Amino acid sequence: MAIMEISNLKKSYGDLEVLKQISFDVNKNDVVAVIGPSGSGKSTMLRSLVHLEQIQGGSVTICGDHLVQDGVYSKPKEIKQITSKMGMVFQHFNLFPHLTVKQNLELAPKMAKKESTAQIEAKSKELLEKIGLADRTNAYPANLSGGQKQRVAIARALMMNPEILLFDEPTSALDPELTGEVLKVMKDLAEEHMTMIVVTHEMGFAKEVANRVIFMDNGEIVESAHPDEFFNNPQFDRTKAFLYRNF
Ligand code: ADP
Ligand code: MG
Repeated sequence: MAIMEISNLKKSYGDLEVLKQISFDVNKNDVVAVIGPSGSGKSTMLRSLVHLEQIQGGSVTICGDHLVQDGVYSKPKEIKQITSKMGMVFQHFNLFPHLTVKQNLELAPKMAKKESTAQIEAKSKELLEKIGLADRTNAYPANLSGGQKQRVAIARALMMNPEILLFDEPTSALDPELTGEVLKVMKDLAEEHMTMIVVTHEMGFAKEVANRVIFMDNGEIVESAHPDEFFNNPQFDRTKAFLYRNF
């Protein structure tokens, strides 16, 4: 079942075409790894899917509802309802610095008022235990390591019960020794059948955890395949050159 259907996405900044006819579907339980050189449009694509950027053409459908259809956006109320099905994790964590770990997790669900305070607090406690940070509940972000911050950011995204989680280079800002603990949390989520799109340079993660790899270059999807096929038998010269340069 397609959770996300993306067709012919187009976006430009002035004369610069950043996304050119991007199309792909994401099915339930998919883990899609998106790789590609810097500047190829990976972040712009993710940000467009969660409506942090406006696109100029194409369609995005989430769980059967149109965020945007042929370049025409749905009404703000519908957009809000549709984007609430997605969680996003950023390279630089984007935690609220003046709030504790617990407050970071509970702010959005408390504002949404869809669950009782007791339910929200029980969930934040459970998630902090799950990511191994129960002992940091009342810490402020400044007093956490980068790996801990990113685990908190993932837990915060999970608080809203998303249908799909989007990650934009979640380990790129971390010291190498801290990437493992974040990748482990993501791998556990994949094993629990969370649907995810992950922009990453971690080829080990793409090989082991993803069931599809998408290679973007210059605003286009050049190649999309199962990781076994993608890494062992890439079909296109641009993919081969990228893999050769980077690994
Ligand atoms: P990636 O995430 O693959 O590195 P980006 O999506 O960040 O690529 O950027 C794609 C292209 O769009 C780059 O050429 C970048 O310079 C340009 N770009 C990104 N954001 C903006 C912006 N807000 N204004 C103008 N150009 C932008
Ligand atoms: Mg980027």
